[in-house]
Amino acid sequence: VASMLPPEAFTVLRKSFDARKSQKEPKFVYTVELDVDKLLNMEPRTWDFISRLEPKIGLIEHTPHERVVGDLVNIIHDNKKLSHDGLLGENGHCSSSSSNKHPVSKKQKVAVVGSGPAGLFASLVLAEFGVDVTLIERGQPVEKRGRDIGALVVRKILQAESNFCFGEGGAGTWSDGKLVTRIGRNSGSVLSVMKTLVRFGAPESILIDGKPHLGTDRLIPLLRNFRQHLQDLGVNIRFGTRVDDLIVENGHVVGVHVSDSSGSSQFSSENLGFDAVVLAVGHSARDVYQMLLSHNMELIPKDFAYSKLANEVLNGRGKVPVADYKVVEYVQGDDNNVPFTSQRSCYSFCMCPGGQVVVTSINPSELCINGMSFSRRASKWANAALAVTVSPKDFSALNFHGPLAGVEFQREFEQRAATMGGGNFVVPVQTVQDFMNNKLSATTIPSSSYRLGVKAANLHELFPVHITQALQHSISTFDQELPGFISNNALLHGVETRTSSPVQIPRNPDTFESTSLGGLYPVGEGAGYAGGIVSAAVDGMYAGFALAKRLDLYEDDI
Ligand code: FAD
Repeated sequence: VASMLPPEAFTVLRKSFDARKSQKEPKFVYTVELDVDKLLNMEPRTWDFISRLEPKIGLIEHTPHERVVGDLVNIIHDNKKLSHDGLLGENGHCSSSSSNKHPVSKKQKVAVVGSGPAGLFASLVLAEFGVDVTLIERGQPVEKRGRDIGALVVRKILQAESNFCFGEGGAGTWSDGKLVTRIGRNSGSVLSVMKTLVRFGAPESILIDGKPHLGTDRLIPLLRNFRQHLQDLGVNIRFGTRVDDLIVENGHVVGVHVSDSSGSSQFSSENLGFDAVVLAVGHSARDVYQMLLSHNMELIPKDFAYSKLANEVLNGRGKVPVADYKVVEYVQGDDNNVPFTSQRSCYSFCMCPGGQVVVTSINPSELCINGMSFSRRASKWANAALAVTVSPKDFSALNFHGPLAGVEFQREFEQRAATMGGGNFVVPVQTVQDFMNNKLSATTIPSSSYRLGVKAANLHELFPVHITQALQHSISTFDQELPGFISNNALLHGVETRTSSPVQIPRNPDTFESTSLGGLYPVGEGAGYAGGIVSAAVDGMYAGFALAKRLDLYEDDI
């Protein structure tokens, strides 16, 4: 039907590929939005034209009536309208946004800590509102970070402050750049993030692909453009600068204590004063959680998922998109001394065809892995995490208590994995077949995309027995859904512990301000409000709006 419609009348919102067994044959599925008024008012000959019958993909433009950011402002502003055409105006320049319409008499100073998606989008919104933003990042800009990651992958040299987790763009820079989110693919906030990414160089196809994917090679130039734009807006970006402490007066954050994390001794440490601090540090900054506890801040341990990464050799491709899957299973309770009353879910996570397994440790005595890929997704491997949810009951079963029990739980399994691998970032592995049979894999294990070395091990020795059983149960169900899932060609790698944050930093749901400390705005994944690139960006963006409102940068007539 879409092919018979005029391109002016409809917009392709989403394109996905459906190869489920229930389908007679695999097919592409489009979600389109049809502007009925436009259609009815059109002269037939203006659209009944053969060259226009093909759906035009990737040509979505910001139109004046879209008011994507305006929609967000409405949410915060009780449905008062703001005429605005996106985070960025046409041609990628700062639009005639609120900062121009509503000039600010005194520039308010805000520190944004962390340049991951949450910190970048918070900085962008605040800078557009005319705030004097300082973006503080402990890691390095992408150019230098790339060299540090190269040294890790080739020579096993880990820089504690510049690695797969720390540096410009945050944890998602050397990643798959999968832009899939569970917060409503076509919602105004997600579209706003996607359109902003397009303005910085992402392909327009991400606006409509059912499973949009960037790849690390596209993320790097995109981040450079993002950086340049922030600097053009006057944002002071300080790389190689780590926030070690908050300066608190009368229960209110008035600044931060920073030190040089670049090793270049530009400065040793200093105090910086701010009107507010946005904390967007991700969930690998465990030192920050400790620092927050020293200020008696409330931190809540939360459920998260941890996993083994499965990696298998792809068996060739056709014209269809590279193979992808998602499997989920719910396991009812356990009986191994851990009194679960609720379900535990086990699911495939971040499935990435054509990618590779990488090390995301920030400390050589801990081993943690994840997946990344380039835009072409051309490697011969596919990898997906097989994640199992864990909760504070699991933490206390191992004698980990208190607000950082989940962090201790993560660390325990990262240290066990490092020991099982024998050190030097070597990863313990087992074929899926052998894992199911509780048997050490033969010395001739299938090839792995992980470049720092793998070692055959029995992964039953890594996790508590009830986690292993939940995984075994789920894997046999997945094998019924996707025959061949249990195979000696698929290799389980241990361990991916950081699928999401083990901690939540409570905040006011409307103002985004911490409930423990005034002037502090915890955002993104590390604060427990996001789980992925897009949701972190959306959270940072909303926080930017909430803080702009708090700083009185909105005027009553908006
Ligand atoms: P982060 O991206 O973690 O950014 C936090 C930043 O804060 C970091 O740059 C850090 O250096 C900085 N920082 C921390 N402490 C301090 C301090 N004290 N002072 C100054 N700066 C500090 N998600 C997806 O949606 N799709 C994917 O394909 C995907 N692949 C991934 C692959 C890998 C290898 C990894 C590690 C993660 C992947 N993720 C993916 C998850 C995604 O990267 C995160 O969910 C997302 O980056 C979280 O964003 P954030 O801004 O909240 O925090």
